[in-house]
Amino acid sequence: MKKYLLILLCLATFGLTACSQVTNDQQTTEVSKEVNEMEDKVVKTEEEWKEELTDEEFRVLRLKGTEMAFTGEFEKHKEDGIYVCGGCGNKLFTSETKYDSHCGWPSFFEPVSENSIVETEDNTLGKRRIEITCAKCGGHLGHVFNDGPQPTGLRYCINSISLDFDKEEKAKEEAKEKKE
Ligand SMILES: [Zn+2]
Repeated sequence: MKKYLLILLCLATFGLTACSQVTNDQQTTEVSKEVNEMEDKVVKTEEEWKEELTDEEFRVLRLKGTEMAFTGEFEKHKEDGIYVCGGCGNKLFTSETKYDSHCGWPSFFEPVSENSIVETEDNTLGKRRIEITCAKCGGHLGHVFNDGPQPTGLRYCINSISLDFDKEEKAKEEAKEKKE
């Protein structure tokens, strides 16, 4: 009888240890996932941004301003390449999705990926709009409207000043595609 009890006790202890092991592993995975997500983000104080950006970039990217229509550098820009975030370099739009919307700001019908931007409801100016920010640094980019061309029917209306243009990045990707 004593022997059975001992075996039972052993089994119970083993079971408990195994159980807590699993929980520990799960916790570790969750924590490291969080750390990875944090590493992807660009976190800076507003003071740091102020030092890094020009006054106008700061006003638009960090204070959610809007550049004057038809004045932006990329409004009529037609070169092949990738438009990246002016704050952190995150890839946002390709030249293939840029089109002439005649609205006064560079317009795209699709972002590089769903994860590159964040959409937030914006109820300022007494109307409901969807604000677009950079997923990596939180910089304000513009708004998205549903009067764009197919295939998405969307118009990502973006301030030129929130963007930088990378011609070489696009060429590099094309070269890579050819190799594969
Ligand atoms: Zn950014």
